[in-house]
Amino acid sequence: MSLAPADLLHYLPSHKVIICSSCQYALQPTGILRHLKDVHHILRSDRRPYAEHIAHYDLADIKTVQHSTDKLKNYFVPELPVYKGLQCLHKNCRHLCVTEKRMRAHWTQRHDRMGLLGLDWKSVPLQTFFRGNALRYFIADSPASLSSNICIANDEAALMQHFIDNVSWTLADEDSAHSEIPYEPIPVSLWQQTIPQLAENSIYLRQEILACSALHLASIDRHNRQKYLITAAQYQDSALPGFQEEIANTEENNCDTILAFLHISAVCSIAFEPENERLLIVDPSSADIVSGWLALVRSGCEYAQAVGDIRLSEPLKVLRCSFELAEKPRNVSSPLLDHLMSIIPSQDSKHAWTNEECEVYKRAVQELADGFAFADSLGPGLNIWVMLRVWPMVVSVDFLNMLRQEHPGAMIALAHYCILLHRSDDKWYAAGRAKRLLGHIICRLDPRWHACVDWINESID
Ligand SMILES: [Zn+2]
Ligand SMILES: [Zn+2]
Repeated sequence: MSLAPADLLHYLPSHKVIICSSCQYALQPTGILRHLKDVHHILRSDRRPYAEHIAHYDLADIKTVQHSTDKLKNYFVPELPVYKGLQCLHKNCRHLCVTEKRMRAHWTQRHDRMGLLGLDWKSVPLQTFFRGNALRYFIADSPASLSSNICIANDEAALMQHFIDNVSWTLADEDSAHSEIPYEPIPVSLWQQTIPQLAENSIYLRQEILACSALHLASIDRHNRQKYLITAAQYQDSALPGFQEEIANTEENNCDTILAFLHISAVCSIAFEPENERLLIVDPSSADIVSGWLALVRSGCEYAQAVGDIRLSEPLKVLRCSFELAEKPRNVSSPLLDHLMSIIPSQDSKHAWTNEECEVYKRAVQELADGFAFADSLGPGLNIWVMLRVWPMVVSVDFLNMLRQEHPGAMIALAHYCILLHRSDDKWYAAGRAKRLLGHIICRLDPRWHACVDWINESID
């Protein structure tokens, strides 16, 4: 009797890979059904539910999975076994393997002499996603007790270290070489040094960093997910009053801290679910027009623009730059815009919108088309600030109010924003977000309008 598809084939959204829970290694995207046949002897007629199970998932190619751990120090994947391994200590080498024989061979081939045990390599715990041709080790040890799969949800120092060692890399920008617009990428040192230093003097910033760290752990450590989510919620709840007080009593010397807080809280808001699942959509029965986190980020953005560069210290300026919209194109025309304009019902239709609704809608979809043009010009690897500033940050309050009332036009515009949001799907904090938001919109949208959004569902699958 074989395991059910979901039990045998585990999907890791953080790496977009399927792990066979029985064999404890990742399966190459094209070899999954073959693995079931050759290794688990599952007959062709029984393989169908497995094929259907994996068809739902977006799988990365082998290279992407292998390199996903390159930048992370002390990475640990709980679904994979840990091996006793060796790391070459030659400058700039870092070669990894699991036997001494291989390490010795590596030294004579690469470094032209016999390596010495205890001097030229050291023991390290290793993990690998794949076996066979695609085998590639990464170091799995962790000062934060991750390697022994201990939950660090209640350990502040370990959470902070996890932020510095691991989360920092996921928040830094890749280089901007592919971009048409010159912009200064956010360097990893900002998250590893500058901002943790600021947090030493700011309780609310520290709490927000710890929340972010716990959310990241929740995304990679399935076994302790709930604990990390609770921890993150507690830190976020305690951070907010401190932040609000700070922003009410603005002094010259806290701008850096406020801006750092806003950036990290944006990541947390996107990552937090299911509480925040609906992203921009506010409960129609609530008094708020704007969802809490968006109100926070919007007000913070206004604040940052009002403050200007003068009061920010040099390393923090790169964050403020990422809020500049000066380069955003205006009034672009595009097939997407034509499509969005064409769905406005005619004035004599039974379902006609009011003039005011039409105007608000037109402005919002124009902003969206401009946002797409801007995102396209920035090239791949868009970070979350870009995702937020191109549209959710700039749409009018009237539009957000229409969204709150679940106006079909506003819902359809938001559905189209999901296409853009989906471009951040490779980031841990945004994985699966666009798809779920779209699902939520479709549930609430009158079927009359489904034809306008069905294609999106297919395009972001
Ligand atoms: Zn297997
Ligand atoms: Zn070496």
